Amino acid sequence: MTFRPVPKPKFKRRVPTRKQRGRFSKKVREQILKDENYQCQSCGRRATQIHHVKPKGSGNGRGVYTNGMAVCNSCHTKIHDDNDLLRYWQRLYESEYGPDYYKDRWDDWSLWATKENLND
Ligand SMILES: [Zn+2]
Ligand SMILES: [Zn+2]
Repeated sequence: MTFRPVPKPKFKRRVPTRKQRGRFSKKVREQILKDENYQCQSCGRRATQIHHVKPKGSGNGRGVYTNGMAVCNSCHTKIHDDNDLLRYWQRLYESEYGPDYYKDRWDDWSLWATKENLND
């Protein structure tokens, strides 16, 4: 007998690369800055950058809204130079957004519904 060929899915849902997943899209970036009134979350001066609360390298942090923190240049440097400070913000974000704050929908399929539009 011959097996029927398995139909190919119409749409390929390709998992983005690790690099792509770590990047904040323009939309997410602008949303974070807007929601934080363009203020650095640490000192209140003008925010110019988005910090990955959970680092994108070793920490597996993704470029999602809840993993983004509006910061100024000098606070951003400070956070990366001070592990206690880094962890302080991680604890804060975890208590605010839950333990999955740094995950994207490829990490957790339940996020397709809730964060789909925001993080595209
Ligand atoms: Zn600052
Ligand atoms: Zn950073």
